[in-house]
Amino acid sequence: MIYYEKIVISINKYKKIGCVKLNIKKLIENSNLNIKKENILYNEPMKNYTTFKVGGPAECLIKVYNIEELKEILSFVKENSINLTIIGNGSNLLILDGGIKGITLLMKMDKIDIEQRGEKFIINVQSGVKMGKLAQILQSKEVSGFEELSGIPGTIGGAVIMNAGAHGKEMKHIVTSVKCMDYDGLENDFKNEDLNFEYRNSLLRNGNYIITDVSIELKKGNKDEIKGKMKEYSDYRKTHQPIEYPSAGSTFKRGKDFITAKLIDEAGLKGYTIGGAQVSTKHAGFVINKGEATANDILELTNYIKNTIKEKFDKEIELEIEIIGEL
Ligand code: FAD
Repeated sequence: MIYYEKIVISINKYKKIGCVKLNIKKLIENSNLNIKKENILYNEPMKNYTTFKVGGPAECLIKVYNIEELKEILSFVKENSINLTIIGNGSNLLILDGGIKGITLLMKMDKIDIEQRGEKFIINVQSGVKMGKLAQILQSKEVSGFEELSGIPGTIGGAVIMNAGAHGKEMKHIVTSVKCMDYDGLENDFKNEDLNFEYRNSLLRNGNYIITDVSIELKKGNKDEIKGKMKEYSDYRKTHQPIEYPSAGSTFKRGKDFITAKLIDEAGLKGYTIGGAQVSTKHAGFVINKGEATANDILELTNYIKNTIKEKFDKEIELEIEIIGEL
């Protein structure tokens, strides 16, 4: 106990001089944390874990493959008062150049269970499953209703948090319930109606829970029709979105009475560039990384866009992407 207190004191001291990483490493090495060594990375560049391909280092990044590991980490984090950040596929995130302090969890739990009940399918998916992978499996099993969402490049957990959607379908239309863990390691179940789903938002965006499992309900379909629809939506993305460049999808939310991308276009901002960040010339709603962008370039560009739209149209626009980390 005395030892523990000493470590906490030294963490606080180091925090002030910016050397806390040494201590998280030491704390982990001196603990009984039962996680494979190769899944714990220190000072790991987060640009490798985001679709924007920017982001400074995570002080400590842990890849989590099952519930037992998650419970252990939560208890460790609580015991040692360490900041915790959750990442799915990093496809809606701008991680700042100063990186992320504390422990960052990369959700890799990826079990899928599909049960047929007549024409209905009950699908239980762990939160780290990628949307594209799930779509492929559903197609192969002739399960329909997920085609519209198949091109969203996130995990199912991130998609629930964001109530991700495309082509008229959102997660709220197919999710029946969600299993979460709170920061005390307690399991909580939420039914669809408890989740307060709204446009790119849900109750779980408050950051108080970690999604572990998602249940969705879909119906029987025809393999070729499912395949055809998925191709149509994928072709649409290829033609209309700058998927050849790193981005985090639509940078801003749609306005209540206006289409943000249209305003950005009308403001003449297509192609506007700061450092390596650019307003896509293909789709004004996307800020892209032309190759060498820093998170700061992207941040400055989003601020410039916001200010320009306010000045020209007197409209406030809101980020859809989430900014995390240190400047
Ligand atoms: P992340 O970006 O990793 O995280 C997003 C938020 O969810 C963070 O707050 C994170 O802490 C939290 N989170 C993630 N997993 C968990 C978990 N298991 N438990 C608790 N919290 C968690 N979005 C759309 O809605 N529609 C689109 O059509 C679309 N198209 C896109 C196209 C491109 C090219 C790109 C790059 C992005 C697009 N997006 C779209 C944005 C993005 O893919 C979605 O928001 C996606 O749902 C984010 O999932 P993720 O796993 O990447 O989450």
